[in-house]
Amino acid sequence: MTAAILDGKALSKTIRAEIAEEVADFTQKTGVTPCLAAVLVGEDPASQVYVRNKRKACEKAGVTSQMHRPSAETSTEELLELIDRLNNDPAVHGILVQLPLPGGIDETRVLDAVNPAKDVDAFHPENVGRIVQGRPRFLPCTPHGIQQLLIRNNIETSGAEVVVLGRSDIVGKPMAAMLMQKQKAAGANATVTVAHSRTRDLPEVTRRADILIVAMGVAKFVTPDMVKPGAVVVDVGINRTDDGLVGDVDFDAVKEVAGHITPVPGGVGPLTVAMLLHNTLTAARQQTP
Ligand code: NDP
Repeated sequence: MTAAILDGKALSKTIRAEIAEEVADFTQKTGVTPCLAAVLVGEDPASQVYVRNKRKACEKAGVTSQMHRPSAETSTEELLELIDRLNNDPAVHGILVQLPLPGGIDETRVLDAVNPAKDVDAFHPENVGRIVQGRPRFLPCTPHGIQQLLIRNNIETSGAEVVVLGRSDIVGKPMAAMLMQKQKAAGANATVTVAHSRTRDLPEVTRRADILIVAMGVAKFVTPDMVKPGAVVVDVGINRTDDGLVGDVDFDAVKEVAGHITPVPGGVGPLTVAMLLHNTLTAARQQTP
């Protein structure tokens, strides 16, 4: 059996088209154009590509984007001043601080300084708390994209055994919190296990999963012996190798065991961008009387 491919690129296009319509409608009714301010510190090449893609997607959806480019030598204090200006600018609805920040900068202080109402990445502790309590203001972009991918491909999460491999603040933790929520809407009510580098007998744990979500940053780590036959495998990993861009899952081998699988590239990545647009529109709606 070869797994069905979960096409994140195509779904992202659909969601971005839906958002573009909603943006046009919102702007026509209110006279307000949603605006995302991107802050890119330094010259990290991968970050430059990510921010460029996000800005292009904004433009296509009718969302304005601003670009702020402090140098890698900027201080935490200077960055905090910039965040403060953006927090107080009524024309800016969402603020995106592209990670990672250069070594000398206090990342936690900077992220905590973003006004929670403009925190479209949902990194602020207030927004994280709201997610855990099941009353989110914004859902974090990558986990939200994965949740949409599952819902829109009719993959049932209610009662399913989900294993999330990776416990980062950006992907693993919020993903687990969202899927375990008690809610009527789809994409929740799962039995969630979070695995990480201290997990004992990892293959035994991952083989329990009806849905296996992998966010580790280790190229081709997940092999067929770690996957239950017929499972849904979602690969968040983006690893640059001599073979080009690869995920955390050994795609060619695992697709012979799994029931559904996301490719890399063309799986989760494009959905992250779509959900950023969704959050920017949500922020603009919430800030417009
Ligand atoms: P982090 O490095 O923050 O976290 C990695 C997690 O994987 C940690 O919890 C770590 O465990 C666990 N891990 C690492 N090695 C092993 C191992 N050998 N066995 C078991 N667990 C292990 O990563 P992120 O969540 O930020 O990112 C993960 C990947 O996803 C990266 O490739 C990143 O580029 C990609 N990514 C893709 C996005 C997209 O839009 N597609 C968005 C965000 C990230 P421990 O906690 O014990 O150290």
